[in-house]
Amino acid sequence: MVGEPQADCLFCKIVAGDVPATLVRESPTTLAFRDINPQAPTHVLVIPKAHHQDAAALAIEAPELAADVLREAGEVAAEEKAESYRIVFNTGSGAGQTVFHAHAHVLGGRGLQWPPG
Ligand code: 5GP
Ligand code: ZN
Repeated sequence: MVGEPQADCLFCKIVAGDVPATLVRESPTTLAFRDINPQAPTHVLVIPKAHHQDAAALAIEAPELAADVLREAGEVAAEEKAESYRIVFNTGSGAGQTVFHAHAHVLGGRGLQWPPG
């Protein structure tokens, strides 16, 4: 069923507490935790607790939850005092998506090039 936990999903395991993570924020519907391989001084992942494959699927399947993720991403940036930051949703393996549970990368704390690589 849409949104149900997937046994082979790393981020579902983090939501379940079966894999540890350094939590930054939690809301009733989302988790924010530090990326294990940070690419910037602030590099936090914001995920819906429910399993959705990617950002676009999340927006179709659970639009309010997509809004929750974006709001939490903004709250993370504010807490980290990142006045400029980037929210990235890698979508598809060719774009670098390695975990197929929707997640926002919140990157800040350094200059961010445009266009990104
Ligand atoms: P993607 O490549 O799918 O856009 O992002 C997945 C992110 O998850 C990567 O930036 C990677 O460093 C991070 N990651 C992979 N495994 C773990 C883990 O076990 N814990 C945490 N906190 N982050 C992870
Ligand atoms: Zn999942």
